[in-house]
Amino acid sequence: MTHTDVLILGAGASGLYCAMTAVARGLGVVVLDHGAKAARKVRVSGGGKCNFTNLQVTHANYICGNPHFVKSAVARLSPWDVVSLLAEEGISYEEREHGQLFTDQGAGKVAGSLLTRCTRAGVDVRLGSAIQDVSGTGPFSVTTDDDVVTADALVIALGGPSWPQVGATDLGFRLAKQFGLRVVAPHPGLVPLVFPKHLQGFCREMAGNALEATVSVDGVQFTDPLLFTHKGVSGPATLQASSYWRPGQSVTIDFLPGHSVETLVEDHRRSNIQFRNMLGHVLPKRLPGLLVSGELGETSVSQLSLKQIEAASNRIHRFTVVPASTEGYGKAEVCVGGVDTDQISSKTMECTSVPGLYVIGEALDVTGHLGGFNLHWAFASGAACGSNI
Ligand SMILES: Cc1cc2nc3c(=O)[nH]c(=O)nc-3n(C[C@H](O)[C@H](O)[C@H](O)COP(=O)(O)OP(=O)(O)OC[C@H]3O[C@@H](n4cnc5c(N)ncnc54)[C@H](O)[C@@H]3O)c2cc1C
Repeated sequence: MTHTDVLILGAGASGLYCAMTAVARGLGVVVLDHGAKAARKVRVSGGGKCNFTNLQVTHANYICGNPHFVKSAVARLSPWDVVSLLAEEGISYEEREHGQLFTDQGAGKVAGSLLTRCTRAGVDVRLGSAIQDVSGTGPFSVTTDDDVVTADALVIALGGPSWPQVGATDLGFRLAKQFGLRVVAPHPGLVPLVFPKHLQGFCREMAGNALEATVSVDGVQFTDPLLFTHKGVSGPATLQASSYWRPGQSVTIDFLPGHSVETLVEDHRRSNIQFRNMLGHVLPKRLPGLLVSGELGETSVSQLSLKQIEAASNRIHRFTVVPASTEGYGKAEVCVGGVDTDQISSKTMECTSVPGLYVIGEALDVTGHLGGFNLHWAFASGAACGSNI
């Protein structure tokens, strides 16, 4: 039997950040995780380079039932705070477009450094610890394979179920429900979309091709690279939009953002070039033939009727599809939804209905856009919690 001030469930990005902040205040901290390694999601993040924060972070980069919820924690941990912390561990960064910061040394070094900072400061990090039972409401009691740990404060930092291949589970949601908290229905986010059967041939023909596109869903839109897969679409523009998509909704794609088919046709009105070939100058190979097939594609630009131009414009700028599904949690970088923030203090991450119980990171109904915002949220919510327990 062990007793501690703070017991953190989950040695991921948020749990370790919370632990290092709490231990620095003189609190006794134990962290439990079933993984053999800490922070496994951090290790695979950013294609192995870990996009650990974003210089442009604001509350507008998050999807949350209460859009104001993230303001306080994000205002108290700036991207430069994260940069300084990593710099102390010898980690430098590279700035990429849209303010995204990636490490030079790789994601494994970030994960290792978060763990080392905790253990060096005296946090008792227990890896390979299966959580069997959680009970009590202060003190809380957690039974593992080989111990019973009691604590005055319990922190749920168990993330969401995306990428189960690195040990992700929905235990955080189940525990929250056990404590009477509401959980906003979770679904995969930052995930490729699968097109319906009748468009699978189209996808196979285009697989591997990428282009700049605007993907719109449910009133939001993202202009970024789009990548065709064998089943549908991926790439940043799709991943961003996917977090807003729900089954049955349509998605609209503009394959030529910033251009107008009408203007392109006007500019080539005196030319005898086939419409399809003209489009071949601005769209990737094969796409013109698939979007304006048959007679329309073969018509010379000078002969196009207004009706034909309008039909082509609709196909190219307003290509509308109802995806069959997403590629699921196995391919999703995040889980959208989670513990309802209405029941959580935005300053401390403590549950209003269960004093001493805290929820942080992706387990909450807070989902960042692509670009380093999810790790920033994990760190910011971990810091807010660790400095207030
Ligand atoms: C492939 C991929 C790439 C990503 N790239 C980026 C990126 O570059 N930038 C970015 O900002 N975000 C990225 N993300 C998202 C980011 O990694 C997560 O949002 C972030 O790690 C969430 O932190 P967390 O602490 O809430 O949860 P996690 O980091 O997932 O930590 C949860 C911890 O709980 C443990 N746990 C879970 N279930 C149990 C259980 N039943 N028993 C015991 N322990 C358990 C897990 O082992 C894990 O260590 C990426 C995600 C993926 C999957």
